Amino acid sequence: MIIFNEFKVKTPEREVILDITGEISNIIRESNIKEGVCRVFIPHTTAGITINENADPSVIKDISSYLNKLVPKGGGLGYSFKHGEGNSDAHIKCTLTGHSVDVLIHEKRMMLGTWQGIMFAEYDGPRNRRVMVQIQGE
Ligand code: ZN
Repeated sequence: MIIFNEFKVKTPEREVILDITGEISNIIRESNIKEGVCRVFIPHTTAGITINENADPSVIKDISSYLNKLVPKGGGLGYSFKHGEGNSDAHIKCTLTGHSVDVLIHEKRMMLGTWQGIMFAEYDGPRNRRVMVQIQGE
């Protein structure tokens, strides 16, 4: 069986990383799929998704701050961005983070590690974003 679902995320600032584990978990529960794979896909070019620690909020702050050091808004490393929209930093951070994650489902539960959460990363908000979820299994 394959199930598709999606939900919206309203991001409050230009850059924010939000824990969306609960929303994904609810979709898996409602799907009634016991064994399979859940793929979460972000259909945007300046937002991404990653799995990382959701126990200590400092980890997300560190990731966000460090990405900004690596890719400053105005560019760096002697390179000037060519993209006229002025958000090349957001496009690059999106590429670094990636646009999809897969999570195994076993006995109707996501097999995330103890400290793992699914994080939606906004790099060019505030915006209304879409999160797509496809679950394959039985
Ligand atoms: Zn752009």
